[in-house]
Amino acid sequence: MNCPRCGAVNNEGTTYCVHCGLPLAGEQQPYSPAPGGQPPYGGQPPYGGQPPYPPYQPPYQQQQPVSKDSSSCGFSILGFLFPLIGLILYLVWKDATPLRAKSCGKGALFGFILSVVFGVIGGIATSLL
Ligand SMILES: [Zn+2]
Repeated sequence: MNCPRCGAVNNEGTTYCVHCGLPLAGEQQPYSPAPGGQPPYGGQPPYGGQPPYPPYQPPYQQQQPVSKDSSSCGFSILGFLFPLIGLILYLVWKDATPLRAKSCGKGALFGFILSVVFGVIGGIATSLL
């Protein structure tokens, strides 16, 4: 028996279409056999037995490409050595490549903290001497 909605071939006695879930009760089919005794599609499904848009194949185009994004040790070092550049790169990359931006920003944060710590130590040392 062919599904009247999507044309998929279902076994005789199947209650629901295996493709679209349409109830297949014989008396309630909207496409009842023609008066000549022939089914409306001549016994053939309209799409070769395949629904036009299989529901189990959702599109994947919306997903962001993740191949270019990865945490990078080099950018961590760059951010560590130049905290201001690391901060700028983090702000630029945080949307497109969050992992790389995170490693870069982490290095910048460490570099910034270290520079502040050494600045405070140096200031204290200078005031004490
Ligand atoms: Zn169906």
